[in-house]
Amino acid sequence: MSLSFEIQRSTAARTDAERAAVLADPGFGVHFTDHMVRISWTKERGWHDAAVLPYGPITLDPSAAVFHYAQEIFEGLKAYRHADGSIWLFRPEKNAARLQTSADRLMLPHLPADDFIEAVRQLVTVDAAWVPEANGEQSLYIRPFMIASEPFLGIRAAEGVTFYVIASPAGRYFGAAGVAGIDIWVTDEWARAGIGGTGAAKCGGNYAASLVAQYEGYEHGCTQVMFIEPAGKDRVEELGGMNIFLISADGDLITPELTGTILDGVTRDSILTVAADLGLTPREERLSASEVLGGIASGRFTEAFCCGTAAVISPIAGFKSHHGEWRLAEQSFTRTLGLRDAILDIQYGRSEDRHGWLR
Ligand code: PMP
Repeated sequence: MSLSFEIQRSTAARTDAERAAVLADPGFGVHFTDHMVRISWTKERGWHDAAVLPYGPITLDPSAAVFHYAQEIFEGLKAYRHADGSIWLFRPEKNAARLQTSADRLMLPHLPADDFIEAVRQLVTVDAAWVPEANGEQSLYIRPFMIASEPFLGIRAAEGVTFYVIASPAGRYFGAAGVAGIDIWVTDEWARAGIGGTGAAKCGGNYAASLVAQYEGYEHGCTQVMFIEPAGKDRVEELGGMNIFLISADGDLITPELTGTILDGVTRDSILTVAADLGLTPREERLSASEVLGGIASGRFTEAFCCGTAAVISPIAGFKSHHGEWRLAEQSFTRTLGLRDAILDIQYGRSEDRHGWLR
């Protein structure tokens, strides 16, 4: 049986003028809407007490397991406003399914997909005024997350868990640099995931573990880090928070295959699906770093880009590592920006939703 949501409206909601000031320049992940969703779970009762509440701090016992053992998973999706004012989610069932995959890996309970989508729908409906107008590339970024909230210091799967959804109006993730081409730091020293680890789950620990490499990248003027599977296997994985694609001179669109150590991105899957419409041949392959960097040097790969919900598609200008620097031959990113427009046009309702992706 589906959950029903109690709605407690905020008495401290921002005024129209305050909200308009935020929406004029939302940045990414710094402003939050007036409400949030909370659903509780216990081993005895299952999911219960679903509510839309005023946005605000969470009170947790200092012994809550999430603080000690990082039993936590999350999702990221967006609500887009179309020119007619209507508001749409993009493939939320994929996020619902991925949250369940992550839950399996972290021994958290499954939230049924219908309840996940309804939780998101409830929040977006109550905070609809926070979904930016259809100009530019603004949207409402939605962050569902699930934590082990049970106060208990023993190491076992928590028997008390809480699921939340918060939302944040968002502009471009990388600012204008996002379409001008970013530089990627290639690390073979640090890993974000290992075989049998949590790389395919969207859990907070993966991101904490990626920061050291990310900061090494910043020191070398890079925006993101490309991780190579360590232990001498030399397999390209993904970036700290995005999947990666290469485009060959003869129109192959190649991304590392899903091997259990990388995240199954919704944007990645959508790009593979629309590729053929743009005359590209999508391929999921095992790629080594030497193939990628050597292929750039030899002219086999002319474009590269990274992708994810937050930044959509960002062209890559070049790669750098301790061993050298590789610039992509094509710096006007024609095919990359064509793919970017194809995805954005579907999300913003400017082209027909042929795959039935909008809800
Ligand atoms: N890889 C990682 C590690 C990520 O955090 C993300 C963002 N969720 C992605 C890939 C892209 O996934 P999606 O397209 O579903 O946002």
